[in-house]
Amino acid sequence: MPLADIQDKMRKACDAAGRDYDDVTLIAVSKVQPDERVAAVLDEGHRIFGENKVQEAAGKWPRFRAQYEGIKLHMIGPLQTNKARQAMELAQAIHTVDRPKLATTIARLAQDIGSCPDLFVQVNTGEEPQKAGVLPSDADTFVAEVRALDLPLKGLMCIPPVDEEPALHFALLAKIAARNGLSGLSMGMSSDFERAIALGATHIRVGSAIFGDRVPAQ
Ligand SMILES: *Cc1c(COP(=O)(O)O)cnc(C)c1O
Repeated sequence: MPLADIQDKMRKACDAAGRDYDDVTLIAVSKVQPDERVAAVLDEGHRIFGENKVQEAAGKWPRFRAQYEGIKLHMIGPLQTNKARQAMELAQAIHTVDRPKLATTIARLAQDIGSCPDLFVQVNTGEEPQKAGVLPSDADTFVAEVRALDLPLKGLMCIPPVDEEPALHFALLAKIAARNGLSGLSMGMSSDFERAIALGATHIRVGSAIFGDRVPAQ
C-alpha cells in the first residue's frame, strides 16, 4: 500500500478519535525487506523506521544514513544485554525494555555513552509464555525500577496475541500507562493500527502494509 494511503488511514482514525495526527508517529518496520523497498520509502520522504534485530539494523542503516539525512531508528525486537550498546548507538528508541538486567545495563551504558535512546517498557498483555515483556501485574513495579535508574522512559509497548481481539490488549496497555503517568503507547501493526489509534497509540509499527509481504529469511 502506498505510504500516502497509510497516512490517509491514520488521519481518518485520528479524526474519528478526536486526536491530533501529529501525535501519532508512524514507524515503518523494514525488517527483512529488500533495500530497494526501503529506499523507495526513504525517497517518498519517510524517515522513521523500525527493526527487530540489532545485527540486521547494523548491516543496513549506516549505509542508508550515509545517503539520507534525518533517519530515526526504533528497535522493536527482543534485546539481549550483550547487544544493548550496539542498539543504543544505532537507535533513537528502544521499545523492548522488559527486565531489570536489561534496564541496569542500559543505565550503565547511558553513563558511558553520554546519551540514551527513548525507552518503552514491553508488557506481555496476553501473558503468553513464549513472548517477551513484563506481565501486566509486574508492570507498575518494573516501571518504578526503570524510573529509579533515571532513564528516559517514554511509555509502554505491546504485541497482542495473534488470535485475540487486539483492542482488549490496547485498552489494557493504555490503562497501565495512564496509572503510571506515561504518555507513550507503542501499539498497532498493519492489521490493527486504526484500532490502536482509537485507543490512544502514539507510535504505530507498520511493516507489511507499507512494504508488502516480508520475504522469508533463509
Ligand atoms: C514485524 C513487527 C511489526 C510489523 O508487523 P506488520 O504486521 O508487518 O505490520 C510490528 N511490531 C513488531 C514488534 C514487529 O516485530
